[in-house]
Amino acid sequence: MAVAESEQLSAEDLTALNSRFEQSTPEEVLAWVKERFGAKAIQMSSFGLEDVALFDMYWRVDPKARLTTLDTWRLPTETYTVIDQIRLRYKTDVEVYQPDPDAVGRMVAEHGFNLFYKGKDNRVICCHVRKVDPLERALASADAWVTGLRRDQGMERSKTAIVEWDQAHSNYKVNPLANWSFDQVRQYVEENSVPYNVLHDQGYPSIGCAPCTRAVEPGEDPRSGRWWWESDPDAKECGLHLVAPATR
Ligand code: SF4
Repeated sequence: MAVAESEQLSAEDLTALNSRFEQSTPEEVLAWVKERFGAKAIQMSSFGLEDVALFDMYWRVDPKARLTTLDTWRLPTETYTVIDQIRLRYKTDVEVYQPDPDAVGRMVAEHGFNLFYKGKDNRVICCHVRKVDPLERALASADAWVTGLRRDQGMERSKTAIVEWDQAHSNYKVNPLANWSFDQVRQYVEENSVPYNVLHDQGYPSIGCAPCTRAVEPGEDPRSGRWWWESDPDAKECGLHLVAPATR
């Protein structure tokens, strides 16, 4: 699904909206999402701390909020556990998008199961098959996707706007927590008893696939535990969040 050109915000309106939302609460941003997009918006969640906090807010604003995830088939057991906990807590369906089994089979036959350790090119292939391609299918049903991106996660994320025109998918990407800190997120989760991934208590600020994520030391960059064997500190993304320019 793509947002019709006649329904797109002008660059001036998008700038004004973002200026207003910098002073708004995440719930106010989510109320705008509900009003403008309704069931054509999805939250894309990896069930990290930001994502579970955000869904709690979204569900309070819109009990019919759609919750979507990408199951790469390589996630930690703890992530599957929190998905089930969220499902039960909010009595909500989780829309799960998975890789194309044939594409995974071809990739594994050609490069091996743990191809990602054999160079960044292989890692990008794996992320494309297991994440980017399923994301494309998920976004085909959405005029907007809601994410838990925060600016102080660093690197490319430091440029995150609250509402972005996602040119690649012809839809809007909404990041209500863009100007929140990790401590604000953690406090929200604690105060609202939101189920969360227990790996966060074991030194994992950012959690992705099991073979590609490790704990970090206090004070280390929060995303340095992702693909830790790669030398480029600015390349800690899998492609999911590299497709959207900051503004229309
Ligand atoms: S994070 Fe690792 S296992 Fe997951 S899709 Fe990317 S390379 Fe593959």
